Amino acid sequence: MNPAELAKPFVHTYPSYVPGRPIEDVARDLGLDPAGIIKMASNENPFGPSPLAVEAAKRAIEQGQFYPDGGCYALKERLAAFHGIAPGQFVIGNGSNEVIELIGHVFLEPKDEVVMGQPEFVVYRLVSLLFGALPVEVPLVNFKNDLSALARAVTARTKVVVVSTPNNPTGAANSAEELVAFIRALPERLIVIVDEAYRDFVDTPPDILPLIKEGRNVIGLRTFSKVYGLASLRVGYGYASAEMAALLDRVRQPFNVNAVAQAAATAALDDQAFRTRCIEGNRAGMRRLEKGFSELGLAWVPSQANFILVKVGDGAKAFDALQRRGVIVRPVGNYGLPEWLRVTVGTADQNERLLSELAAVVR
Ligand SMILES: *Cc1c(COP(=O)(O)O)cnc(C)c1O
Repeated sequence: MNPAELAKPFVHTYPSYVPGRPIEDVARDLGLDPAGIIKMASNENPFGPSPLAVEAAKRAIEQGQFYPDGGCYALKERLAAFHGIAPGQFVIGNGSNEVIELIGHVFLEPKDEVVMGQPEFVVYRLVSLLFGALPVEVPLVNFKNDLSALARAVTARTKVVVVSTPNNPTGAANSAEELVAFIRALPERLIVIVDEAYRDFVDTPPDILPLIKEGRNVIGLRTFSKVYGLASLRVGYGYASAEMAALLDRVRQPFNVNAVAQAAATAALDDQAFRTRCIEGNRAGMRRLEKGFSELGLAWVPSQANFILVKVGDGAKAFDALQRRGVIVRPVGNYGLPEWLRVTVGTADQNERLLSELAAVVR
């Protein structure tokens, strides 16, 4: 019998995640030298991981015969010191994406509504659909979450509200005060996810800890994939009340975060000097890209993250042309922004290369 006939109905229309393409993949496809290709597509850290994290990862692989610590003891201790809360308030995931799925496992039932912006990081939509829940998508205004419209979209069926701040793919963020006031005014029965994947790049980010301390069901999500440069190892976390963290922890796989990732993430937290340099490098790169886009006569969206939207006309065409010239960026037509490209801020050299190739493409 055809397995497709046995699959649950939602699988047939399930829209799988489309990632930014790896360099090797593009090189094979277009017959290019991988050494000449740069990837500015997935908001990765162009400066790589901290050398301390690399050292810790190497030491960890030497002990590769052992299962990892499923409870992530050392990493939680380190995170507790970093955040000033208890180790029991963390749930560690195979990327923060896994934590999103854990939230679905614990809270989402068929027909529950999940209120989010449009566009919002697509994994929120995908995880909602995975559990038969209904994404309720509220258009952004000026590339930012329309907080009062999000609040109005809440119904008796709403279980979860999601805000990524800054938003992906726009990079724009609501002010810290606005966001905290918005959450405080929501009904207390709601689960509120605040995705802080790009928080490190924001000058005055919101602080959701007071809300957690007040007993609100707010879950903050952070990742080691962006400023810490460890996207390949897949490690991220949620922080919340101890009760919330324990629920999420209950439904994870026994060894969901591998030992190399745990060791690297723990060491990365110790190298705050490296993190600071990455943030400064990002700030300088952002100013360069803004200036370069303006000189090309291209509109761009002010971003508080490590990526920026630039308006190129036909996004799919410009993406394709750039890729043939060895620069991989992200088309965002799937996010309802067909005229735009999302470009990750690179090293100084990568930014110059992107700007010169883009000049040739839009001319
Ligand atoms: C990149 C990103 C993440 C990180 O996902 P990981 O699974 O930790 O790599 C989470 N949320 C948003 C909005 C992102 O852009």
